[in-house]
Amino acid sequence: MTEVSVAKEEVAATGDLVVLKSVNKHFGALHVLQDVDLTIARGEVVVVIGPSGSGKSTLCRTVNRLETIDAGTITIDGRPLPQEGKELARLRADVGMVFQSFNLFAHKTVLENVMLGQIKVRKADRKQAEVKARALLDRVGVGTQADKYPAQLSGGQQQRVAIARALAMDPKVMLFDEPTSALDPEMINEVLEVMQQLARDGMTMIVVTHEMGFARSAANRVVFMADGRIVEQATPDQFFSNPSSDRAKDFLSKIL
Ligand code: ADP
Ligand code: MG
Repeated sequence: MTEVSVAKEEVAATGDLVVLKSVNKHFGALHVLQDVDLTIARGEVVVVIGPSGSGKSTLCRTVNRLETIDAGTITIDGRPLPQEGKELARLRADVGMVFQSFNLFAHKTVLENVMLGQIKVRKADRKQAEVKARALLDRVGVGTQADKYPAQLSGGQQQRVAIARALAMDPKVMLFDEPTSALDPEMINEVLEVMQQLARDGMTMIVVTHEMGFARSAANRVVFMADGRIVEQATPDQFFSNPSSDRAKDFLSKIL
């Protein structure tokens, strides 16, 4: 308990960045998010875990408004999510998202993939955008791949380009939805290492992952979801050594 209260004090000092209050979401009769309350502080790394179908992806998608919610509120940096138009495009840039399936623009080069949003949404000029794109590609270790097309890269390289593309927008928070689940095993670490470095650099991150090693080493907090609810949250140490709910105990016994 002590560790959690320390984290809370840091929250007060630096400010809450992402706040979900009583968020509810249905898909038809399916109640996929049920009274979800979640507060994420600036610089905090939160790993979301839970069984398949528990609502983890939906939770991520509501935070950058890829999904609407039926009830409750979501604020980013004190502002409610915009509904449409340019405001929504800016919100999506503020909330970087990295998906399981990379989602790069197939007909653009790697460099163009990382330049495009800067020019269109952030109104950077081409030269500035290129300089920044090249620096970010270097940072994630794919600088030499700049002129290739996504299909010419390995999955691990493509995912690192996707991270660079999101970072190019200077996001306030980064969402990762199972970023390594589609990768061959030998490529998982190169992506996790980039994420570890981001975490160390102070990026606010929400990460859905089954990589428990990453959760232990990078997360400030683990959020466990089941059936559309947050069942428990704790520091990684507490959660992995002494989960409090039967659902979490059952889940951990299957994956560890
Ligand atoms: P997770 O990421 O934890 O596996 P999801 O958020 O993807 O869970 O899904 C939660 C539940 O909502 C699942 O039962 C899933 O089948 C359902 N679901 C997700 N997206 C849709 C959709 N667009 N339409 C209908 N049902 C959906
Ligand atoms: Mg999912």
